Amino acid sequence: MNESKTTLHLPHGQLRLPAFLPDATLGVVRNVDSVDLEQCGIEAVVMNTFHLMQRPGSSTITALGGLHNMAGWPHPIITDSGGFQAYSLIRQNAKFGSINDKGITFQPEGSDRKFHLTPEKSVQLQLSYGADIVICLDDCTHVDDPFETQQESVRRTIEWAKRCKHEFQRLMQQKRLPQEQWPLLFGVIQGGGYHKLRKQCAEALLEIGFDGFGFGGWPLDSKGQLLTDIITYTRELVPLELRMHALGVGHPAYVVECARMGYDIFDSAMPTRDARHSRLYVFTTPDSLPAPGSIEKCFSYLYANNDNAIKNDGPISRYCDCLCCSHYSVAYLHHLFKINDGLFLRLATIHNLRFMVQLIERLRAEQNE
Ligand SMILES: [Zn+2]
Repeated sequence: MNESKTTLHLPHGQLRLPAFLPDATLGVVRNVDSVDLEQCGIEAVVMNTFHLMQRPGSSTITALGGLHNMAGWPHPIITDSGGFQAYSLIRQNAKFGSINDKGITFQPEGSDRKFHLTPEKSVQLQLSYGADIVICLDDCTHVDDPFETQQESVRRTIEWAKRCKHEFQRLMQQKRLPQEQWPLLFGVIQGGGYHKLRKQCAEALLEIGFDGFGFGGWPLDSKGQLLTDIITYTRELVPLELRMHALGVGHPAYVVECARMGYDIFDSAMPTRDARHSRLYVFTTPDSLPAPGSIEKCFSYLYANNDNAIKNDGPISRYCDCLCCSHYSVAYLHHLFKINDGLFLRLATIHNLRFMVQLIERLRAEQNE
């Protein structure tokens, strides 16, 4: 396979595809540091504009030399636009803010500050943070929202994408950097569950021109099942040589499914959150992935907080080479969990992240076959 098709060349290094990126929401993947991430084989992380603009705040991040410097992470960072979280906050309760054609205004509970996110502001913030991949501000919806709402979201998302692209080019031209040193700019395809709207949105964004695209909106239905039909359809709307990010997809089985549809980038807080809740991922086969349709058979869960875990003197997984599996037993982890020691959180997080990297390695091997 052509190397340029499987690797993104970004200002802070290369990102091999497909790739799983843990969420370092507030500038940190909770409980682990940059060296832990490197040792797990993580090549890039996602950081969240919505949270970072509140804490520590954009002027602090800029004063600290950007996110890479602040977090001691020299590798690529994707920042999101902040749109999804702002939308989620407002959807939860309209008193937290509003969305109109200009942009999004929000005031989180307990905060005495009002925040504004416009397409231009979102791009300005992401560039000032030093992002390697900048994501356009989009107008999010819920997949169950009616056609009219989805139509309005697509119209606004296209308008905002034009404004984002314009602002991105204006700021990059000001910096006078050669184009190969520019970060990438991704558009986000909205349209809910409607094929017609997804097509309209994808065509308009392709016309504007972006380096890659995200699947917009929550990727799961109300029962937590992957929206396979519309996610597959949306991938088919974008030429295969253009990279696509399955935003928020992190369940191992769904990562496998979406990678096989042609998605390249995945990010989610799920593997690290599961680790903190003692849900650990274990491969059930030494090196292969299951045939399509039997994806769940690829791995199982081990709950280190279960009482019987204290009798398990083996590692979490015999197929894992992480710091935790190569040094400690499940019984010891169980003990750390019971006494509430912070080491449990670190080791469990390292293990689940290493699992995700190994999953991606298996996917890369499959794609190179
Ligand atoms: Zn492990």
